[in-house]
Amino acid sequence: MIDFSHLSNAHRRAVEIVRDVAREENCRPYLVGGPVRDVLLGRSAVDIDITVERDSSTLARAVAKRIGGRVKSFPQFLTYKVTADQMPEIDIATARKEKYRTPGALPSVASGNLRDDLLRRDFSINAIAVDLIDAELHDPTHGQRDLENRLVRVLHDRSFADDPTRIYRGIRLATRLGFAIEPQTAALMRKAIDSGALESISKERIWHELFMAMDESDAATILTAFSREGALDVLFGRRTADPSLLEIVRRLVTANPELDAYVLYTSALLRGDASPIDLEGSGFSQKRARNVVQIANELGRFADALSEAKSERHRLRVLKHASPELLSVLAATQPEEQPHLERFREFKTFSIPLRGNDIELPPGPHISRAIERTREAVFTGEIPPEEARSFAQQIAQKYFERSQAAGHRIEN
Ligand code: ATP
Repeated sequence: MIDFSHLSNAHRRAVEIVRDVAREENCRPYLVGGPVRDVLLGRSAVDIDITVERDSSTLARAVAKRIGGRVKSFPQFLTYKVTADQMPEIDIATARKEKYRTPGALPSVASGNLRDDLLRRDFSINAIAVDLIDAELHDPTHGQRDLENRLVRVLHDRSFADDPTRIYRGIRLATRLGFAIEPQTAALMRKAIDSGALESISKERIWHELFMAMDESDAATILTAFSREGALDVLFGRRTADPSLLEIVRRLVTANPELDAYVLYTSALLRGDASPIDLEGSGFSQKRARNVVQIANELGRFADALSEAKSERHRLRVLKHASPELLSVLAATQPEEQPHLERFREFKTFSIPLRGNDIELPPGPHISRAIERTREAVFTGEIPPEEARSFAQQIAQKYFERSQAAGHRIEN
């Protein structure tokens, strides 16, 4: 009998609702894949994955109705996603068989029975199903034995050639669970990597796998393993990741979830030699790509510019051009910059009691620039606070005259 007691209340409720609704609709739902693996390991699950041999659409709509949720359909995967507030996502799929005509290409999909559906999966520990009506376990590939022996094992010798993304999935899953890759599986993985199997998949799919690895709590170990196995060469050419730098990033993003983890991990992987070409397929916006390249290539130069800055004002100017990600790496890797970074943090929240309409000039960008310049001057002690207003007036006047002169030049 499977023990659902490790599931959260919401997950248990979702399973019970699926079971009750399926009984009413006279269909047989199986809990499959990740959640079964996690339940058998006594871990909490993320999503609820259900497979049925028929009537997936009827079941999905009836479940959505019961919980007041929405249904989204993914016809290419014969899947429905049911979502509702306070509920885990419930995926309801028709059991399917898959055929890989060309290695690395997406498979052709046809409906099948539960066994077909389990045999198309990536690893034995992900190929176990629980019948929610009679609680019977279906484990045609001995996934339970592998769970006990803590092994990640593929189901057949062509698995990595059919779908090389399983190389990344296998390493990610083994690291997350603290499992080993079963020796024959490891040999097949090696062979697939050495024979260039990863070149048969698109860069976009590889980046998708990389981002999933970066979302894991132990991303540093996973990325180090990807690099060690040569699974990143297809994107970045031969280079070796620096585990200690990846670990620094892991600590930074764990402590501060607002930082862009994808940018930081990528810059760590490309340390010292990043170019926009390395980011092809990542979908990074120009701004994020610039951030990656800057952190990877210019951290040293940036630190030099800081230590060479002639005054605190110049130093603040340098720091203002840095992204929060760059600043975080700088703080973690260059402890001697710590006092400067601390001052910069103070500067960011420092304010002076001066508003735009305190300055007697027509409105325009010269006003906000002058106020910002005055804020710098007060903060760094260049002027005493009581002179802020007259200083701002003079500076704004200067900027205004300059902009007028530039305007005249353009007109003439
Ligand atoms: P988690 O969501 O906790 O990372 P999961 O096992 O649920 O784990 P998903 O990516 O949601 O992972 O995949 C759901 C299931 O689909 C997996 O358990 C596995 O059985 C199957 N699966 C996913 N990707 C593949 C693949 N590339 N090849 C074969 N089966 C796959």
